[in-house]
This record gives sequence, C-alpha cells and structure tokens, in this order.
Amino acid sequence: MKITTKIIIALLVGAVVGIILNVTAPNVFEVLDTWLFYPLGQIFLNLIKMLVVPIVLFSIILGFTGLGDPKKLGRIGVRTISYFLVTTAIAIVIAISLALIFKPGEVGTFDTANAEFNAEEAPPVSDTLLNMIPANPFAAMTSGDMLQIIVFAAFIGFALTMLREKTQGVIKLIEQGNEIMMYLVGVVMKFAPYGTFGLIASAIGSQGFSAIKAMGLYFILVVAALIIHLIIVYGGTVYFLGGRKNPLKFFKGFTPAMGVAFSTSSSNAVLPISMEVAQENLKVPKHISSFVQPLGATINMDGTAIMQGVATIFIAQVYGIDLSIGQLVTVVLTAVLASIGTAGVPGVGLIMLAMVLQSVGLPVEGIALILGIDRLLDMARTAVNITGDAACAVYNTAAEERREKKLAK
Ligand code: ASP
Repeated sequence: MKITTKIIIALLVGAVVGIILNVTAPNVFEVLDTWLFYPLGQIFLNLIKMLVVPIVLFSIILGFTGLGDPKKLGRIGVRTISYFLVTTAIAIVIAISLALIFKPGEVGTFDTANAEFNAEEAPPVSDTLLNMIPANPFAAMTSGDMLQIIVFAAFIGFALTMLREKTQGVIKLIEQGNEIMMYLVGVVMKFAPYGTFGLIASAIGSQGFSAIKAMGLYFILVVAALIIHLIIVYGGTVYFLGGRKNPLKFFKGFTPAMGVAFSTSSSNAVLPISMEVAQENLKVPKHISSFVQPLGATINMDGTAIMQGVATIFIAQVYGIDLSIGQLVTVVLTAVLASIGTAGVPGVGLIMLAMVLQSVGLPVEGIALILGIDRLLDMARTAVNITGDAACAVYNTAAEERREKKLAK
C-alpha cells in the first residue's frame, strides 16, 4: 500500500475512533489516550521535529550554493514573497466575504457577558522582522527560531558561494549532512501512519463536540473558505502559473504532507515531510524547495488568515459592531502582517488574531467564543498553510523552466 493511502486511512480511522470514544466512552478514551494515542503521536511528532532544524539549516545553505547565480535567487525571492502576500490577501478577502454574506455571528446566541480572554502579548510584527538577524545563531537553533535560522543559513550559503574553491570541503560536508537528514525523513515517514493515527485520535477524542454545534456556522464558513482557497487559488496557481499542471495530481501528490500537517497542526513540524514530498512527488528542484518551503512555513499562512478573517467578522457581528469599508481594509492589511508574524506551531494564529481585532477596536474577549473550536480548525488551516508554500514552489519551478527555455531559444 502507498504511504498516501496509509496516511488517509490512519486519519479516517483515528478520527472515527476519537469521535466514537468521545461520545460513548470518555473513560476508555482517557486510558487509551494515556497509553496509546498520545505516546504514538508524540513519538512521531518528536521524530519529525528532530529533523526540522538541521534540514532547514542544511537545505537553505545548499539552496544558495546550488543557485549559482545570485540574480536567480533575487528572482525567486521576489516572486515568492509577492506570491505569499497576494495569496494571503486573497485568502482574507474570501473569508471576509463569506462571513459578511452568511453572517455567522447573527445566527444563534452567544454568551458575551462571560467571555474572557487574556490576550497573550503577541510580539509586534516589527519585532519579528527586526529580530530576523540572529545575534546568536546557536541560540536560534536551540530555540528553533525559523526566521533566524533561515537568515543565518542564507549568510553561510552566501559566503560559501563567494569562497567556492576554498570551501569545497564544507560544501561537501553539508551536502552529505543533508543526504543523511533526507534519508531519515524517509525512515520517519514509515512511522507516519501510526503517528497520524495517534495524533488524530487524541485530538478528536479530547474535543467536546458541543462546541461544533454551538459554533456550527462559523466552523462551516472557515472550512468552506479553506476549501475554496485551496481549489481556486492553489489549483489555479498550478494550472495557470505552474505550466498547466493538473491540479488534481498536485493535490494527490501533496496529500501525505497535508495529512501530516492536519494531524500535527504545525507547519514547522511537517516541514521535513512537505519538502520531501514536494521534491519527490511534485518534482520541485531541491534549490527551489529548500528556499520557498521553509520561508513559507514561517511567513506564509493563508489558512490562518482565513480563520482570522471569518473570526473578525464573526466577533464584530456578535458584539453588534458594524465595520466600515476602511476598517475592512485595515483587517486585510493587519491579517497579512499577522500571517507573517505567526509562527508555524499549533494555536499561534489565535494569539495573532488579538492583533487583528485590536487594529479595528474590536473586543479581544471575543476570542473566548471561538477558543473551544479552534483546535479542530487549526488542523485544517495548517494543511492549507503548507499547501500554499508547495503551490508557490511549483510556480517558481515552472517560471524558471520557462525562463530557461526562452534563453535557450
Ligand atoms: N498551526 C498553524 C501552523 O502551524 C498556525 C496557526 O494558525 O495557529 O501553520
């Protein structure tokens, strides 16, 4: 059986087992969760997390040395960042439009009097950008600060490119280090079906489903916006910008990574797998994948932006506050910034939502209303977050191919 099929089966079985136990036998769930689901999930999560920092470091360094021509890097960089910004803005517009049309905050009653939410101090986005240069690269690696690791790797990659002849040994060493890591990704992938089963059963089993009932329309709208974005924007990208590639093949090829993202709720953790899958199944060259995907996992979060768009309008409606067109534009702009500042770990999107709400003076306590259901939505949006990075990698691959063909003529 193929790994994709195994992961899909694991997700389904995990979800069904989780739901059944949650509804019929919460006590049995607790025992199974302690001794089976949770340990399975954590072992898998730690196995892939173990590979993230060395993979990002090695592959970005090699991405630089493999590019050869600094102009090429500039081109890919500009294309990638513009793509990230534009698609995130589209994502929020889709989300806001659906929420304005279907008015999730006006259907049902919501207890705003008891809503309390202590907004954790989200670091201002300006800080994230200012702190991009790691004062201590080793500290960046031990704490897993992706943006700082990327910048450090970029510096090393640049130096190796300039010193080429003198540093052949180091380049070789890093190439071999990268080989080792990618080999280990393959090994860890064999465990993915068991790990995803454990993660999903644990997450779904421990969720109360009353939250979904109360928040039904909000939940449906976020999921609908995620699906629309996935199909239209990413499907459109691979077809129109990615050299007429078949979107179905793209989604099918990328399914293992989406499945793991869904179960882990972390763009960072899934990075080793999403890179491997993009290189193997989507035929994205290593130097493009190594640059676009780690960067995307850190700064490109369309799924998160979608949740924030729907949530903002939902909260405004619950509190009976009308947002002007100017305020809606502010929401789009701050949510794009929030997406850059959101770290690819579970639940951060909700913390950054506080920043979006504050930008238009909406009550931050409103977050308490969607808290209960966010764990489930986090899974879905993380899968979308990393698919955007892969779509961008496919786009870059096709654009570079087109350029080479043109030059060859
Ligand atoms: N869990 C998301 C991710 O890792 C971020 C978030 O929306 O909370 O991509």
